[in-house]
Amino acid sequence: MQTSRSPITPNHATSGRANRIVAALSWEDRSACRGLDATIFYPDPDDQMATDRALAVCNGCEVREHCLEHALALREHTGIWGGATERDRRRILRQRRRSA
Ligand code: SF4
Repeated sequence: MQTSRSPITPNHATSGRANRIVAALSWEDRSACRGLDATIFYPDPDDQMATDRALAVCNGCEVREHCLEHALALREHTGIWGGATERDRRRILRQRRRSA
């Protein structure tokens, strides 16, 4: 499956050389899934083991929040993004609409 994952500008404080270098990288460059087969993140929603495998990668990802916000902003309907399944993201969006 083709993904539409594209970089957004990281929102990091940029004090010091190391922080500037990190900020210069897109969040995707720092993702735990970089180099992995993207199909891992598009499991059959009924396959809990496959879903758990993808979520386990996200759990160790330092850019999880960026990834989730990116998927929410683009209304990604399929796949696992930022440690959230399609159902999780629908729930998050519903909760945000209610509290807006
Ligand atoms: S949160 Fe998951 S899908 Fe998003 S960049 Fe990290 S590992 Fe990849």
